Amino acid sequence: MTMPAPATGARSHLFNDRTLPAYRAAVAAGVDRVTRRVATAGPFSGITPDRLGPEIAAVDLDRPLGETGAALDELEQVYLRDAVYFHHPRYLAHLNCPVVIPALLGEAVLSAVNSSLDTWDQSAGGTLIERRLIDWTADRIGLGPDADGVFTSGGSQSNFQALLLAREQALAATALPRHQALPRLRVLTSRAGHFSVQKSAKMLGLAPDAVIAVETDRGRRMRPAVLARELERCRRAGLPVMAVVATAGTTDFGSIDPLPEIADACARAGARLHVDAAYGCGLLVSRTRRHLLAGIERADSVTVDFHKSFFQPVSSSALLVRDRTVLRHATHHADYLNPARAAEQRIPNQVDKSVQTTRRFDALKLWLTLRVMGADAVGELFDQVVDRAAEAYALLAADPRFEVVTRSQLSTVVFRHLPPAGTDPADADEANLHARRALAASGEGVVAGTKVDGRHHLKFTLLNPETTTADIAHVLDLVAGHAEQYLSDQAAAAGLCRAAG
Ligand SMILES: *Cc1c(COP(=O)(O)O)cnc(C)c1O
Repeated sequence: MTMPAPATGARSHLFNDRTLPAYRAAVAAGVDRVTRRVATAGPFSGITPDRLGPEIAAVDLDRPLGETGAALDELEQVYLRDAVYFHHPRYLAHLNCPVVIPALLGEAVLSAVNSSLDTWDQSAGGTLIERRLIDWTADRIGLGPDADGVFTSGGSQSNFQALLLAREQALAATALPRHQALPRLRVLTSRAGHFSVQKSAKMLGLAPDAVIAVETDRGRRMRPAVLARELERCRRAGLPVMAVVATAGTTDFGSIDPLPEIADACARAGARLHVDAAYGCGLLVSRTRRHLLAGIERADSVTVDFHKSFFQPVSSSALLVRDRTVLRHATHHADYLNPARAAEQRIPNQVDKSVQTTRRFDALKLWLTLRVMGADAVGELFDQVVDRAAEAYALLAADPRFEVVTRSQLSTVVFRHLPPAGTDPADADEANLHARRALAASGEGVVAGTKVDGRHHLKFTLLNPETTTADIAHVLDLVAGHAEQYLSDQAAAAGLCRAAG
């Protein structure tokens, strides 16, 4: 065996058997920078686009630095210094989780080997590993022996594909020609459902009013009786319901629609049921709260986002279906990729089930997570954040400075700062908006915002088991401080106006 000669010139940057020392050194240097940054970073520096924009614009992309160290120095300035750090216990804003180390290891391995999960001859074992994880997930859901699915880029893509399959099933079932049936198709989802349902409907060529929002109860769960009425109304009007989308974990309220009652209504009406469990899927591995997903096993399709409640890095999501044959609606044969003959030879390929072609081996992250720490440990982490949300709710409910909307079944808390009696409602709204911005700008914490009944609210999405009740109490003090400061500045300005007038 001869040793390969070291690579020179442009080829020295290629990853191969001749460049392994450079690969190790570059990746280690990158890991080192991240390590040093994370050791001291807050949740966010508070940088604004106005300040960061010029720094990034000033980088001359046609003049390479030629050297990893220099590029990393620059990266500190343009990215690492001011990134938003989800691992930080006072990042309480969106559905972004801290990530587990086995998944980061998976990320490093999968990008170096760079398998593409479209065909067997671009992935080999990767295809089989993804299939095992799809089967494992479908088993956890309880979808039965004919289930299948595919990894996707995220919950939005999973929902899109679920609705694509539903549209094709519905069109196949109607006697009308396709172009006449398409504008009549309807999708029912709750008012608190995810916006990707609307976006998907648009991309699927449905009518602008195709998505019907079903009323929710006080806990922001779909009301099954209203759903049943809407199904009946559509039937009378000759509008085929191609899918009911139930949400297991709404983005704002963490509410889980009553799945058994919704499944009953769907069964009576012969409607397809899709369950969007992008957020709530973490309950699949909870040893104490799995029952909250009861009824999910009756779905025709399910969206799960491992990058939300399984502590996986972006991207990692999947769509599962009860009946594997519906995936044929995503199949098209091309001679250069997946000739029909290969299917006859039973060579496994995933591209026949996916809306993507070249596709990351994201499943490897979940694989290593399950093999190193196991599903119970993931569920334990998710249970801890759900517990923390209950504590946050209790804190807020007992605090006269705030009003809290609803007790989440998962890990969100929606609330608002309450101004002193007699404050103009518009000022109260502005005070909440201001408090959120000022908190982010201070770099001391990040909370999210949303609207409830037309009013600005603040939101915690707790996904970090390291966040303590003390962190939450501290952030609430900061929020109240910013809101009160805003209101007193407003009052002072109004007083000045009066004095001047
Ligand atoms: C986040 C979310 C989605 C979209 O998932 P992405 O991975 O962001 O595309 C869909 N549905 C619900 C309920 C979500 O919370």
